Amino acid sequence: MHLAALHTPSQIQLNKDGNLKHFITIEGLSKQTLTKILDTAQSFFNDQNQLITNNLLEGRTVMNLFFENSTRTRTTFEAAAKRLSANVLNIDIARSSTSKGETLRDTLWNLEAMAADIFVVRHSSSGAAHFIAKDVCPNIAIINAGDGRHAHPTQAMLDMLTIRRETKKDFADMSIAIIGDIKHSRVARSDVAALQTLGCKDIRVIAPNTLLPFGFEEYGADVRLFNKMEDGIRDCDVIITLRIQNERIDSPALSSPAEFYKMYGLNKERLALAKPDCIVMHPGPMNRGVEIDSSIADGPQSVILNQVTNGIAVRMAVLALAMQGQLQEQGLIEAIAV
Ligand code: ASP
Repeated sequence: MHLAALHTPSQIQLNKDGNLKHFITIEGLSKQTLTKILDTAQSFFNDQNQLITNNLLEGRTVMNLFFENSTRTRTTFEAAAKRLSANVLNIDIARSSTSKGETLRDTLWNLEAMAADIFVVRHSSSGAAHFIAKDVCPNIAIINAGDGRHAHPTQAMLDMLTIRRETKKDFADMSIAIIGDIKHSRVARSDVAALQTLGCKDIRVIAPNTLLPFGFEEYGADVRLFNKMEDGIRDCDVIITLRIQNERIDSPALSSPAEFYKMYGLNKERLALAKPDCIVMHPGPMNRGVEIDSSIADGPQSVILNQVTNGIAVRMAVLALAMQGQLQEQGLIEAIAV
């Protein structure tokens, strides 16, 4: 069974013409929609492979609402919105009135009254972005920047863009390994869903059983589990390493970081088992010497910093498409221009 079929497809993301108006989760979106995001992101690079700027969001206001810590995601959303000529407000949640007892609903309604067009939301509760889009601010484009262990759709799309740009291969022809804390990782969940939707037939999940989610066997025939790292990464085209999500683990799932490194750390010997042109990815933040050795993180096969740049292009694409989808839904524009 396809991972997308395990969840109720979130049609709330699409407007009546089938275009994106919120971006909450990969599940329920078609290959065509994901490809449109990737193609739009790619169009924001010029011939010299540099990111461009344009005025697609001129006069629009993007509010970054990060209820949970972030470095890359928050900053690249800000960079993306500014490249589209939007006004950007970073709301300091720790200093906001939510800390004085105001409900999330009231905070958001107040921000909405300040003429926000897009909310970029990160929250530690799974489902937060969906709740805001459905029950609180349906007329504002909501972009999920990571909700609990549920989803991180823009990370998945920047991962897909990086794979497409760096390997130049078709998703159907690649073997892709995801290693580490699958159970608590919203990145793993969104990556698997995106890979399945884009047609990858050989997704390998490498982890100890303690770091696998419940019901994992039902993800589908295109997703295989490997407990032994050496078996899983053999002949892979892409390796995605993940951080152990200590903030989401209540009881010890591992004896120690050193033990994890011994069993699942990506080092030179293990990488040599993959294809010679295999690329290495990591969503960050990296724990060097736990899930990845520094010689690999900084080595020639690493595309970890390219992921960050691609993240700006993908976030530009998602902001522009969702804004246009939202305006189309409200009858303010006829067709999608991007
Ligand atoms: N930055 C990613 C996330 O927000 C991955 C991580 O934190 O390990 O989920």
